[in-house]
Amino acid sequence: MLDVTRELYNALLQERRDAYRDRGITISTRQQYSELTGLRKEDARVAAVYRECEDAALHRLHLAMQAFFRRMKRGETPGYPRFKGYARWNQLEFSHGDRALRFDTLQGRLTVPGVGRVNVRKGRVVPACGRAWIVAKNGRWYACFECERAETPLPATGTLIGIDRGVHVLAATSQGELIDNRAFGERYRSRVARHQRNLESLTLRDNAGRVCNRRDPARKAAVLRLARAKEREANRRRDYLHKMARKLVRSADVIGIEALNLRAMTRSAKGTPEQPGRNVAAKSGLNRAMLDASFGQFERLIGEKAEEAARTIVRVDPRFSSQECSRCGHVAARSRRRRRFCCLSCGYTNHADVNAALVIRGRAQLALSRLPDAGAEPVMQHVAA
Ligand SMILES: [Zn+2]
Repeated sequence: MLDVTRELYNALLQERRDAYRDRGITISTRQQYSELTGLRKEDARVAAVYRECEDAALHRLHLAMQAFFRRMKRGETPGYPRFKGYARWNQLEFSHGDRALRFDTLQGRLTVPGVGRVNVRKGRVVPACGRAWIVAKNGRWYACFECERAETPLPATGTLIGIDRGVHVLAATSQGELIDNRAFGERYRSRVARHQRNLESLTLRDNAGRVCNRRDPARKAAVLRLARAKEREANRRRDYLHKMARKLVRSADVIGIEALNLRAMTRSAKGTPEQPGRNVAAKSGLNRAMLDASFGQFERLIGEKAEEAARTIVRVDPRFSSQECSRCGHVAARSRRRRRFCCLSCGYTNHADVNAALVIRGRAQLALSRLPDAGAEPVMQHVAA
């Protein structure tokens, strides 16, 4: 099914490219939709695949083209939609969700149209109501269902906390907690490194450094082992972030967090062709980027869980939050001494990241008090301050 839908996607893209290049004609999605109907009558292989999955491939092409033209209009220089290689096509979409891809949670069985019943290894009851997918990842198959989750407000705790993105740790809370995501990462990193070395030892390269034994079964197995080791590490990290986010959301009614534009930050690190960023590849920068990526994920999880629990998220201006004293408000770059914060004005000392979290907490409190209905309904809201 993956092969057929991928070949179909590529053929439909080819048709659009050729028509435009040779005749200056734009082929519409509607036109290709009816062509697909004709093709299914002629080609048994295409007909054997569930129609909805083929429509989804066409829809994916439609979206890719739309995105391309939208960016052209804005004066950008986007790349033309590309043909999909084997490695870049790993999911089948069922736009009608569980009406097509039926999931019997009692028996742990999935009915895949055109394939039959498949046992599901780990499943949970899903209130499916949207689209569904079958995803192939590192040699395993997954079934995904889009669903809506009801809001279940958590009991009020009467607390407000601030969270700061740390320099050495992932995040610090105003309650003095430091959330590290590297402590357990080390263990996995050595495992990943071992698989990486193993793969390298099985790889043959030509003079230009290109791999010449891509199809070697032993090498392919090593590639898979490395991918799985990386996946396990990412799973562990995500699981940990889920737990920490859940804990934070449970502990406070209002969470103050820095309003960050992560995209703008990565852009500034990379620089532009005119003004390339410096030390982009430096190791510290790399660690930093990893921390940032994890923080982005962490922030998103906190947002999702806060929404589900009807908690309030207040996004505050993070400027100088690491240089400001949380007790007296004095701002000085020299108050920060590595991991310690020591106020030059009043002598207050604390862990630098915890101090910053306290500053963020203070700013969140101020932003809330300025709202007209301060402290009324515990509704999830994004407050810009
Ligand atoms: Zn001070």
